[in-house]
Amino acid sequence: MTYLDYQATTPLAPEVKAAMLPWLDRFANPHSPNREGRAAAAAIEFARSQVASCLPPGGEVLFTSGATEAINLALKGVHAPGRTKLVTVATEHAAVLDCCDWLGERGLEVIRLPVRGDGLVRLEEVEAAVDERTLLVAAMLVNNEIGVVQPVAEVAAIAHRSGALMLCDAVQGFGRMVMPDGPDLIAACAHKVHGPKMIGALWRRNGLTPEPLIHGGGQERGLRSGTLSPMLCAGFGAAAALAAERREADSQHMAHLWDVALEALGPGWEINGSVGQRYRGNLNIRCDGLDGARLLADLRDIAFSLGSACASGSGRQSHVLRALGLSDAQARSSIRLGFGRYTSEQELADACARIAATAEMQGRFAA
Ligand code: PLP
Repeated sequence: MTYLDYQATTPLAPEVKAAMLPWLDRFANPHSPNREGRAAAAAIEFARSQVASCLPPGGEVLFTSGATEAINLALKGVHAPGRTKLVTVATEHAAVLDCCDWLGERGLEVIRLPVRGDGLVRLEEVEAAVDERTLLVAAMLVNNEIGVVQPVAEVAAIAHRSGALMLCDAVQGFGRMVMPDGPDLIAACAHKVHGPKMIGALWRRNGLTPEPLIHGGGQERGLRSGTLSPMLCAGFGAAAALAAERREADSQHMAHLWDVALEALGPGWEINGSVGQRYRGNLNIRCDGLDGARLLADLRDIAFSLGSACASGSGRQSHVLRALGLSDAQARSSIRLGFGRYTSEQELADACARIAATAEMQGRFAA
């Protein structure tokens, strides 16, 4: 199996596994005052500092069950008198869009800004949408479907000029790139950076206290009740530390793999979204006449994707590709190849050559 679905999730790093394993047996409750409990709490605090080292200074990491929860906490938890408007972007992840819709049904005004053909939001359109009634602007760092990098720092500056907050869904960029300064709230998770699933974080700027979604024992400074898992926190911390340590090497590897993939695919493919403003571990491409779903079925030993894991499963057309202005036929002929730290040049080249050959066969039979 060649794994080319790094945007859906990533393989657990051996270093991360090693950091997690002791906490399978060390079962103490990190919120207990006894010695083992305190040791577990210390491990969690160490992990918190490791995660924080990938995030801007001047804020604090709250552990959550994942980025989806972090996004829900950020969007549903902030309030300000007289501010009843949310501004977001049409290509955000469902965690942001569905949450905004939910808030919209409860009386908030929600503006979804369009993107251009390159997948990027235009700052003048952000500027025009944000005003003194805006509570929060939500924009992601790296798009999970097409990999384009939004101008997060600039969007945050616009939000702040009107006194609004800015939330950044940084899931796909966390650890891989230096976090832009500006957002007041940042959502991230471990499983996109070779960490375990079901653990994420909401970073909040000092002084900002979202109203909790989950009530109970008052853990995480009363903002997220529930017993923390030392094993998952340790895994997230180790994954973050490793990502920071390997940032340059990983990014060079990815840039090389990008070239290898394009070379092996050959002519006839168009890249969806900006090429310049992009995370290079995400190659979303289309080929005229290709049936992406059939390609997926024809090449079962290559794990790639048609869009986000959620959109692929539901059979829904990708809202991201639609927002780029692609026709239904173009969206159907698009595939997403995601590669990263553990992808070898050879396996990627082989997989891309097989994808290209199978796509060509499809074209020949269709003609
Ligand atoms: N945001 C983006 C951009 C994602 O890619 C994902 C994961 O698919 C999420 C949010 C949700 O993250 P989690 O799986 O931690 O809930």
